[in-house]
Amino acid sequence: MNPSDILKKYFGYDSFRNGQEEIIKSILSGKDALAIMPTGAGKSLCYQVPALLLSGITLVISPLISLMQDQVKSLNEAGIHAAFINSSLTEAQITKALNLAAKGTYKIIYVAPERLESNRFMDFALNSEISMVTVDEAHCISQWGQDFRPSYLKIIEFINHLPVRPVVSAFTATATKEVKTDIECILKLNRPNVVVTGFDRENLYYSVEHAAGRRKDAFVIDYIEKHPGESGIIYCTTRKNVDSLYEMLFKRGIPVTSYHAGIDNNTRKKNQDDFIYDRAQVVVATNAFGMGIDKSNVRFVIHYNMPQSMENYYQEAGRAGRDGENSQCILLFSAQDVIIDKFLLDNKNFEEMDTEDIELIKQRDSYRLQVMEGYCKTTSCLRNYILEYFGEKTFSPCDNCGNCHRDYTEADMTAEAKWVINCIAETRGRYGRNIVTGTLVGASRARLREIGADTYRSYGVLSDISEKDIQILIDQMLRKGYIVQTNGEYPVLQMGDISALKQEDTRVLIRKFGDKEIPFSGSRKK
Ligand code: ADP
Ligand code: ZN
Repeated sequence: MNPSDILKKYFGYDSFRNGQEEIIKSILSGKDALAIMPTGAGKSLCYQVPALLLSGITLVISPLISLMQDQVKSLNEAGIHAAFINSSLTEAQITKALNLAAKGTYKIIYVAPERLESNRFMDFALNSEISMVTVDEAHCISQWGQDFRPSYLKIIEFINHLPVRPVVSAFTATATKEVKTDIECILKLNRPNVVVTGFDRENLYYSVEHAAGRRKDAFVIDYIEKHPGESGIIYCTTRKNVDSLYEMLFKRGIPVTSYHAGIDNNTRKKNQDDFIYDRAQVVVATNAFGMGIDKSNVRFVIHYNMPQSMENYYQEAGRAGRDGENSQCILLFSAQDVIIDKFLLDNKNFEEMDTEDIELIKQRDSYRLQVMEGYCKTTSCLRNYILEYFGEKTFSPCDNCGNCHRDYTEADMTAEAKWVINCIAETRGRYGRNIVTGTLVGASRARLREIGADTYRSYGVLSDISEKDIQILIDQMLRKGYIVQTNGEYPVLQMGDISALKQEDTRVLIRKFGDKEIPFSGSRKK
């Protein structure tokens, strides 16, 4: 049989999606693989299909117990011999599973990374033919990733112990350069075939609405009532927000349910099913909701609060429109959200980690938050902002997002950009954006006099522009890399690569929106 036959016979699909066949073929040719594909793109098939064609067993290392169980269940239903071994099993069940595995009963075995260190498991692995080791959610190996798991670092030791080195394949939806490099190096992938498929989800319409407090509630109610019968998820940062928003929507007579880790297991499962089987139109949830949920007709995802990272946002918003139909991803932003997110990060639980690691992770968390805040504040194309963050090249604005559809005029701020550069040179890269904007508009603030900014040549040169517009200009310059902002508690602005700015034909354009109120339910493109 060839891969297409397997696809049809066991999974019932007629054709491969973008990237799948390439990965499968390269695995079958014995090459290591690293696949970076967005959530929902169909990563699982990329290792399940070759697993059935390779002679021995495929071990799939996965961090999520519930995901393992779901996958094994659907594989078994498709007539494929698969099993999982994790902490949800009793010792007796593990013994039984390992005995069956040793007899060659299973083609695919899912394991949690911790299991690789157990003697019994190692014993089984040493005496079996392991054709492939697949590392799912491979970003967990990187401290740059959103959920670093120290146990992932042990995978390579396990592989090294095996009598014959298996093919190693790694899968993730996180595409940043640092994570990619970490995966390749730490897993010691052997000249892997790296396949990155596009992160663009054309059917998703992204928009950001600036709204605080009651206006958020009004927005949500208005949106749901204008889209009757459309299935949607509303994400909130805290359980408290979930409960109160749920309560409010329920009182309005909206068919709504809720989901967070504080709700007891049975009710939570029932609420989830109510949403999946369309008994409840809307679910209000924390980000605990959605892992491994494959509901195709979600028409909107509203974020009631700003998430802590673009990785999270992309994944959560990406639960809309899996069926390819037009869907909306709306983020309700208020400055308060940033404060709450900072608070949550400051109070993150770092049990059992080195202080050095903690410091590093904190820096990265704060960088991610800055990126997310930038998304909420940018006046440029939102889709391009997301794609650029994930390392994709973009060309023109998408004409299919909230910012592209707002009325705007483009202002040439090349000259002003050069003053920003001059000012940063005068601060010698020691100060943050408020000092820089204050200096440029010539604000009379004690702090500016204290550091002698009022004697700079750039002091007051842009007094005819608002500080807000200079902030927008600074955002744009950061994105272009002309200037950089350090991480940490007091980020400062420093010189970036200004070679492009020195060329005659380089223009720095910023978009200015009219004063009109932003329309509530951004027009959906047909
Ligand atoms: P990921 O792990 O990348 O988030 P999954 O492997 O869970 O994505 O796949 C998402 C959905 O797409 C699943 O319902 C899967 O059955 C479906 N799918 C995967 N490959 C194909 C294909 N070639 N044709 C049709 N549907 C597919
Ligand atoms: Zn756009």
